Amino acid sequence: MNDSCGALDALEADYEALARRLGAATWLSYVGEEEGETAEDPAAVRAEFGRLFDRARPVLDACRGSGGDPIIARRAEVWRRCEGAWRLDADPEAVRLRTDLERRVNEHAFVRGDRTWSRSDLSRLSRSDDPAERRLVVELRGDLHGEVLEDTLRLVSLRKEAAAGLGGAGTYADAMLGAEGLPPELLDPLLRELDERTAEAWAEVLRRGREAGGDPAATLAPWDVPWLIEKLGTIPDERWPKEQALPALSETLRGIGVELEALPIRRREGDFGYGGQTLAVSIPDDVRMMINPLPGWRVWGTLFHETGHALQGVSTTVASPILKGYEWLAGASVPAYAEGMAELLGLLVGDRAFLERRTDLSTEEIERFLALWRARSLVSVRSRLADVALERALYEEGTDVDAVEHEVAERYLGLALPLDAPATWAATAFLAAYPCYMQNYVLADLIAAQVLRAVRERFGEGWLDDPAVGAFLREALWSDGETREWTVRVREATGEELSVEAYLEFVMGT
Ligand SMILES: [Zn+2]
Repeated sequence: MNDSCGALDALEADYEALARRLGAATWLSYVGEEEGETAEDPAAVRAEFGRLFDRARPVLDACRGSGGDPIIARRAEVWRRCEGAWRLDADPEAVRLRTDLERRVNEHAFVRGDRTWSRSDLSRLSRSDDPAERRLVVELRGDLHGEVLEDTLRLVSLRKEAAAGLGGAGTYADAMLGAEGLPPELLDPLLRELDERTAEAWAEVLRRGREAGGDPAATLAPWDVPWLIEKLGTIPDERWPKEQALPALSETLRGIGVELEALPIRRREGDFGYGGQTLAVSIPDDVRMMINPLPGWRVWGTLFHETGHALQGVSTTVASPILKGYEWLAGASVPAYAEGMAELLGLLVGDRAFLERRTDLSTEEIERFLALWRARSLVSVRSRLADVALERALYEEGTDVDAVEHEVAERYLGLALPLDAPATWAATAFLAAYPCYMQNYVLADLIAAQVLRAVRERFGEGWLDDPAVGAFLREALWSDGETREWTVRVREATGEELSVEAYLEFVMGT
């Protein structure tokens, strides 16, 4: 390393200090004040990244001639990717709207008359046998949509202007996806194949659900799907006691050689806009997670998923801050990959071997749960394909987004939204705070299923009792941050390019 690259180290030290401040500020915006921590305004902290990019350019230029060190070249590449993405969202008004909208959605109280519903209540109502209660969920989400619509559209228009200003041919969404490691030429064929190869299974789920609901000819709306799925056979929420989730997780991880209690991970519970959220405040020594205590197996799923995120954070051993995978700058991490690491544990909740060992479910209940799990996975893939199509349309010129909400429901769920249904597409913190995110959950399941299949092949059916598994995951997938491109990490860990095959096996139960 020469002196000019010393400047790169200094720049990254400042970058990491800022990432830690933004992590802490975001955490406090979720949990309120904590002892010994002063709350900063996340938008103000985020805006400070802009100054780093002004400093970065000469540093990167000076560093370029530093003898072909591949790590330095990679650091420079990630910096440039971040800078391009930063310009898509750097407008001060956009920065402000982004954090403001996230806070408003997270803090929103769902109220009708003198009643207030938590998100956990909404989850329960959406599965109610009373159609009016299911419809109420949509009305309540429609209220939130109405409250944030104007500012959401303003933010979208600022983002469109920023993308146009960059002079590329694509939309804001195209540019953002590219920065986050999912250029359309990689993403679109996978999504298309998933759509085509799950369409028939989805139609079959709808047919069986209608039958089980007692009316094969029933007219259903998209919001009836959670209820309909449960008709296929459900496990009462009490069979998934919340207090057993953490011990089950901890035992499972111990089996693969990971001592959860020894890791610097903090957990808090709260009713907020996401199912859960993990913030790597300081990588690798301070990771915090929020868990929304949704009923039944959902909180298990959330705890496992979030812990998968946390394991990646605390297992990262790379020295360069820009390669550690902090989530704050688009381009500095690959969210699809991070979600994949989360789903390595998230998918376990639908794994027969896990269910047999770590839950009290009977064999018959396990079979019922697995059928429900597969149906829900199909719902989630198809709903997310719908979300992705809507969000990408949102950044195109002249889109009638309300009309697109109807089109995608019909196209991906095969169910028409009633004409009098309120629009709800803006009733999510993702559009503002995590733009172009939904495809990450879809790819995450492809990545996780492919890795789990490879783990099974490598370690055999007893892999849940093999401490070498944890070491393998750490080495192959968690430790080196963004040093290697994510597609390389997946290929080297599993022996093949990412495809839909392992996931389809998993979801179809074949
Ligand atoms: Zn996640």
